[in-house]
Amino acid sequence: MQGAFAERLESVRRRIVAAASRAGRPEGAVTLIGISKTMSVERVKEAVAAGLLELGENRVQEAREKIPRIGPGPRWHLVGHLQGNKANLAARLFDVVHSIDSTDLLGRLDRAAASAGRRLQGFVQVALAGETQKAGVPPADLDDLLRAAAGCGHVEVRGLMLLPPYDPDPERSRPWFRRLREVAAGARTRHPGLRLEDLSMGMSDDFEVAIEEGATHVRVGRALFGARREDA
Ligand SMILES: *Cc1c(COP(=O)(O)O)cnc(C)c1O
Repeated sequence: MQGAFAERLESVRRRIVAAASRAGRPEGAVTLIGISKTMSVERVKEAVAAGLLELGENRVQEAREKIPRIGPGPRWHLVGHLQGNKANLAARLFDVVHSIDSTDLLGRLDRAAASAGRRLQGFVQVALAGETQKAGVPPADLDDLLRAAAGCGHVEVRGLMLLPPYDPDPERSRPWFRRLREVAAGARTRHPGLRLEDLSMGMSDDFEVAIEEGATHVRVGRALFGARREDA
C-alpha cells in the first residue's frame, strides 16, 4: 500500500522530470531536497521510508532534536540562516550548508568541519533582490567570499543559492532565477578553481520554473509534506 507521502513524492518527481525535459536537461540534473521543518520525526521517517534521502531543515536548534532520532540514511541540508556561534553544531549535523553568506561564517564552518573531521559541501546564498532579512551576501561582496572559499580545506563551495521574495505567481520569480544563473556563470569565469556548477533555487510554488532556469537543487517543503502548522 502506498501512503499519502509516497504519492506526493511521486507526483513532485514527475513534475521535476517534465520541467527538466522542457528545458532540454537530463533527468538526473536535479536533486530534490525535502524540507521537513516543523514536521514530526514520524513524518520524516515516513519520507525516508518512501525513498527521500535528501532532507533539509532551516533551524539548527530544531535539527539538533530531530536528526539524531531519524538515524543514518538521509543526507542533511541546512537551508536557513546560520549564526556564527552555531557553526560547530551545524558542521556536525549537516552535510550541505546552503546559507553561507559571509566570509566570517565560511571561515567558522571550515574550522568547525576540520575539528569535527568532516567535509561539508556549501552554497553561497546571494541577496540578489536586496533581501531585507539579513540573509545572503550582497552581489558586490560575492567575489571576496569566493576567493576565501578557494582556500577552504573542509568546506567545498559548489554553487549559489537564492531565496527570492515570496510571490505565489512563479513567473514573477523567473527573472530572479535567471539572474542567479547569470551571476553564477560570471563567477565561474572569475574563480576557475571552484566548481560552482550548482544552483539551489526553487520551492513548492516555483520549482518547475526554477528548473527551467537551471536549478540543480530544489528545496521543496509543502508540496511533499503538506501545509505547515505555523509558517516557519
Ligand atoms: C521552508 C523553506 C523551503 C521550502 O518551502 P516550501 O514553500 O514549503 O516548499 C525552501 N527553502 C528555504 C530556505 C526554506 O526556509
